[in-house]
This record gives sequence, C-alpha cells and structure tokens, in this order.
Amino acid sequence: MSGRATCRICWGTASSGPGGRLVAPCRCTGSVRHVHEGCLAQWRVGPPARTHCEICHTRFRMPAGPGALLAGAAQAAWCVVRLVWPAALLAAAAWQGVQWGARAAVGPEQRQRERERLREDRAQQRRQRQCVARQRWQQKRREWQRRQQERRLQQNRQEQQQDMDAVGAVKLAWAATQVLLAAGKAGRPR
Ligand SMILES: [Zn+2]
Ligand SMILES: [Zn+2]
Repeated sequence: MSGRATCRICWGTASSGPGGRLVAPCRCTGSVRHVHEGCLAQWRVGPPARTHCEICHTRFRMPAGPGALLAGAAQAAWCVVRLVWPAALLAAAAWQGVQWGARAAVGPEQRQRERERLREDRAQQRRQRQCVARQRWQQKRREWQRRQQERRLQQNRQEQQQDMDAVGAVKLAWAATQVLLAAGKAGRPR
C-alpha cells in the first residue's frame, strides 16, 4: 500500500483530495504518514487547535506552499477571533460602564429638575381631570334642574286641569239642580 499515498484525514490521494499537495508533517510512517496541506491546515486550526501530532507527538512541520499560507492565515484569523471577541465583549462592557457612570454623574440638580417637571405634568393632568369632572357635574346639575322645572310645569298643568274639571262638575251639578227645581215647580199640583 506504499505505492499510493493517501491523506490520513480525508483518505484522498494527491489528485483526489481537496487539500492540494500531500506532505509528511511529522515522524509518523506508513498509512498515516501523508496528509494534504489544506487538510493539515484545517486540522491545525481546529477547534481544538492542534500543534502536535497526536500519534508521534512531534510538532507539525509546516511546509512552505499555498497550504501553509492558508494555514497561517487561518491561524491568524482564529487568533484574531479568539482575541478580538473577548476584547469586543470587554469594550461593550466598558462602554456600558461609561454610560452608567455618565448617567450617575449627570448630577442631582438635573435629576431634581426632571422630577419637578414630572410632578408639574402630573399636577396639570390632575387639574384637567378635575376641570372635566366639574364640567360634567355642572351639566348634570343643569339637566336635573331642567327636569325638575318640567315636572313642576306638568304638575301645574294637571292641577289646572283638575280645577277646571271640578268647576265643570259643580257647574253641571248646579245646572242639574236648576233643571230639577224648575221641573218640580212646574209639576207641583196647585
Ligand atoms: Zn486530505
Ligand atoms: Zn505523527
């Protein structure tokens, strides 16, 4: 099987693998001796990052070439990510802290002013509410008065009607009495 070298990572040959040239980066021999430059580059970067062969424990020799360049770039990128990410987190935290500090340092007088403005707004709202309530109450009162007046008027009218009815009844009775008296006078025998 020594006639045809294969990559120990992807099992591809020099022509079939994706990683370009086959290289021997450590002291391993036999079927695990060769590896593609690109495969090794990815393998080294990880994660986890590997600097040594896990079989013979020698440090990987990075051959010069496009694969090595790629590996270097990948490693650099990985380092940047690893370094920049916590740095970015730290910066964000610091920025937050600065903002907090600024807010704390705004000073008590501005906060006091803000509080006063808030209180004034609330007072204004309360006044408006009271005004509206008073208007509503006055309207209700006016309506009640109007209704009361109407009722009184109706009562008057009814009373007048009753009076007139009573007068009519008395008149009728009077007329009937007159008629009866007249009839009695006329019908009395002499
Ligand atoms: Zn490979
Ligand atoms: Zn090895």
